[in-house]
Amino acid sequence: MHPRARRRGPAASRMLAGSIVAVTLVIGAASGLTVMQMRRSAWEQVGRVSQNLLEAVEHMVDRNIEFYDLSIRAVVDGLQNPAIDESPPELRQLALFDRAATANGLGAILALDPQGQAFADSASAVPRAQAYPSADFFLVHKQREDVGLYIGKPFRMAPDGRWVIPLSRRLAYADGAFAGVVMGTIDIGYFNGLFARLSIGDQSRIAFFRESGELLVRSPVVESMIGQNLSFLAHFRRFFEGNAGQFVATGHPDGVEALFTYCRVGHHPLVATAVVPTEVITALWRPKAVAIGVLVAILCGGMIALTLRLQRELERRSRAETLALDANRDLARLAHTDGLTGLPNRRHFDEAFARAQEQDMGRGQAPRRATFSLVLLDADRFKVYNDTYGHLAGDEVLRTVARVLQRQIRGPAEIACRIGGEEFAVLLPGVSRAEAVARAERIRLAVARLLIPHAGNEGGGVTVSLGVAEAGPGESGGRCFAAADAALYEAKRRGRNRVMAAPADDATSAQVA
Ligand code: GH3
Ligand code: MG
Ligand code: MG
Repeated sequence: MHPRARRRGPAASRMLAGSIVAVTLVIGAASGLTVMQMRRSAWEQVGRVSQNLLEAVEHMVDRNIEFYDLSIRAVVDGLQNPAIDESPPELRQLALFDRAATANGLGAILALDPQGQAFADSASAVPRAQAYPSADFFLVHKQREDVGLYIGKPFRMAPDGRWVIPLSRRLAYADGAFAGVVMGTIDIGYFNGLFARLSIGDQSRIAFFRESGELLVRSPVVESMIGQNLSFLAHFRRFFEGNAGQFVATGHPDGVEALFTYCRVGHHPLVATAVVPTEVITALWRPKAVAIGVLVAILCGGMIALTLRLQRELERRSRAETLALDANRDLARLAHTDGLTGLPNRRHFDEAFARAQEQDMGRGQAPRRATFSLVLLDADRFKVYNDTYGHLAGDEVLRTVARVLQRQIRGPAEIACRIGGEEFAVLLPGVSRAEAVARAERIRLAVARLLIPHAGNEGGGVTVSLGVAEAGPGESGGRCFAAADAALYEAKRRGRNRVMAAPADDATSAQVA
């Protein structure tokens, strides 16, 4: 494999893993957005339903007040009519309360004199013996002329102690002086009955407040809270920001966070509120969100786990490939190396020799000047050496000769190889015959000067014989090799420990040393 392709392997697997992780993150983000959207729409839905419900309730209560006010106005008008005021009690009773409300939840209408004492009663011709001289609804009309319809603080009405809301208007003499109050009551239980029929959920509630803070109606009913002033609550003043609105705050008295929806009742100083705890809204979206979250987490987790496994597998393969390639390279190197001396072997020599010839032949073009010389080397009387000193000692001599050759070659183009048992070849590209002979001579001297004892050899030391040949222009490698071999043979024949060169004109070999 090309080395660049090998580097691309892990990078590509990392890129693949990166993109899968990115896709996973996008899926996660999209699910997050979906959940947020679910949450928003749950809040919007509850907000809308609360608003609609509250508008219906507000309308109903406003209509009740308007309706009852008509009856009170009729009594006020009647009492300010001298003809009615001066008629006998039974007649006055009929004339005054003819249009008086008789609907459920609407109590008797009383007319109070300037001292707060009842002097006319819709329920009986003889007015009940009741007085309200210090009630808020009495005092407010006594002190001010322009109050109009007044919705008073709730109180327990005698004789049975039912909670009621008083509605009142001022009575005036012709000169405008205070002549008393006409007062009617709405039974709080009546509203409780109406609201109980609305299905607003167990934890949600509807309530009405006076502007000054008193709780009038609350559904579900908590009797002890009726009439309580809740204006101390931090969020209470927010009920009067505009005619209607919504906000989240902590409820009273449970301390639970909730969505508050409010609206003003008609033009009256009353506010209607609907309260839905946050957890009720949360219950609408959270279970689905959790299900989606778990599903997406499993999906994304699975995808990332698979990706990591895939990436590890790809990296493992890439490492194994690299190892295999390295092993191949080592094998190839070993196949070209001589085990004993570490020099390139015969196979390597043959290939290098063939390449040298190709270059020399200029790939089929006109031959150029000779570009290489060949030196063949053979150890003298080596069989005898082995016989005398042993094969292992012989091996050591071969290794020493190899080291000498390696020292004598120059540059990467020159190669010294072991081509046979005790035979070596030196390929010298671009080296002339004369120069090659000089180099061969240096090799011969370098070996002889080692003075390795060799009793069976002439001179008593290890020596080598060398044959030199030059590949001339257009000359074949085979001929060059044969010429060098012949020169080597000649060196042996002439007594060994010498260099012989093949003659340039291919005449007989000539000894040069
Ligand atoms: P000459 O001077 O004519 O070359 O005589 P020679 O004995 O060297 O010639 P011959 O070719 O008859 O013998 C070569 C010897 O080289 C034979 C063998 O014992 C020895 N030889 C070949 N390969 C190895 C080797 O790897 N290690 C050792 N120690 N000896 C080897
Ligand atoms: Mg030999
Ligand atoms: Mg030999």
